[in-house]
Amino acid sequence: MKILVIDDSASHRLFLKAYLGKMGHEVVQAAHGREGIDRFGTSDPDLILLDVLMPGIDGYETARVIRGARDQWVPIIFLSGCNESADIEAAIDAGGDDYLIKPFDPKVLEAKIRSMTRIAQMRRQLVLRSEELRTANATLMRLIDIDGLTGVANRRRLDSKLAEEIERCCRNHVPLSVILLDIDHFKRFNDSHGHLGGDECLKAVAQVFSGELKRPADLVARYGGEEFCIVLPETDCAGALLVAERLRAAIAGLKVQVRPGVMAGVTVSCGVASGVPSVDTPAEALLAQADAALYHAKEGGRNMVCQSRMPVMPGTAPPSGSYLIQ
Ligand code: GH3
Ligand code: MG
Ligand code: MG
Repeated sequence: MKILVIDDSASHRLFLKAYLGKMGHEVVQAAHGREGIDRFGTSDPDLILLDVLMPGIDGYETARVIRGARDQWVPIIFLSGCNESADIEAAIDAGGDDYLIKPFDPKVLEAKIRSMTRIAQMRRQLVLRSEELRTANATLMRLIDIDGLTGVANRRRLDSKLAEEIERCCRNHVPLSVILLDIDHFKRFNDSHGHLGGDECLKAVAQVFSGELKRPADLVARYGGEEFCIVLPETDCAGALLVAERLRAAIAGLKVQVRPGVMAGVTVSCGVASGVPSVDTPAEALLAQADAALYHAKEGGRNMVCQSRMPVMPGTAPPSGSYLIQ
């Protein structure tokens, strides 16, 4: 152990240095309170032996400063000639953990040091455990928002993101867009390539979506089985249609490895909803609008992007401007 001895008596310090040194401890000395506080900061001791009556600030004040200085708790044992109950009480109140009246039996000091070491070790373990818990908690908090299969955000995260962005975009009077994307004939894909092949397809599609979206505020979420939802804050209808068309084209060009050596193509239909939300715009309204547009994309032949009731074919200029959600 590294023990900091704060005592104005040179002979006491010398005795303690020799005695504790023999026990295998390293001793750091300070001749008064101020020096003790400095040494505490620079030497990072495991235990402090503290005299009460010293020139300048006394032991009580020294203990108070040390206790207030750092989060880390270091045991303090007072060694003092003052033997009144009130002295012991004041020492404990100032932050001391134990009190030995001088002259003391070195064997008793040795035993108290062992007991304090035990407490300090238990405390260190507690701090370690709570740090591990904090890390585990942070990991859990991250996982709770992630879809296990595809690694993109899950429905829970989508719901909170939508609520946040509706509020923010309403406050800033800027448009918010969502795109619902549904894999075309996915039942057939599963039938042809098996459920595992289908899962590979979902992972590949999610990866393409995540790779295509560049803005940090954008979010890709798995909305349901083979449906994804993309949230585009501060993006108007024209912008969202361009993004949706880019995603549609990227998926149309994708080849999914469903088994070693077997590649399969896939397409998606997209429904876009945009608008400057108002305070009472429910997220469901935005999603319902995107869902209606998606329905039209399916009806229109799939592998296409629709906004509201109007299909936007690949290669045609998307309409500009945004509109208010009813
Ligand atoms: P449409 O073009 O009209 O969207 O046709 P579809 O076959 O994609 O639509 P439908 O909603 O009838 O079928 C979706 C299928 O997606 C049903 C289900 O077997 C499959 N599916 C849903 N979740 C998963 C999943 O996690 N893994 C796999 N492999 N398949 C899934
Ligand atoms: Mg579906
Ligand atoms: Mg589908």
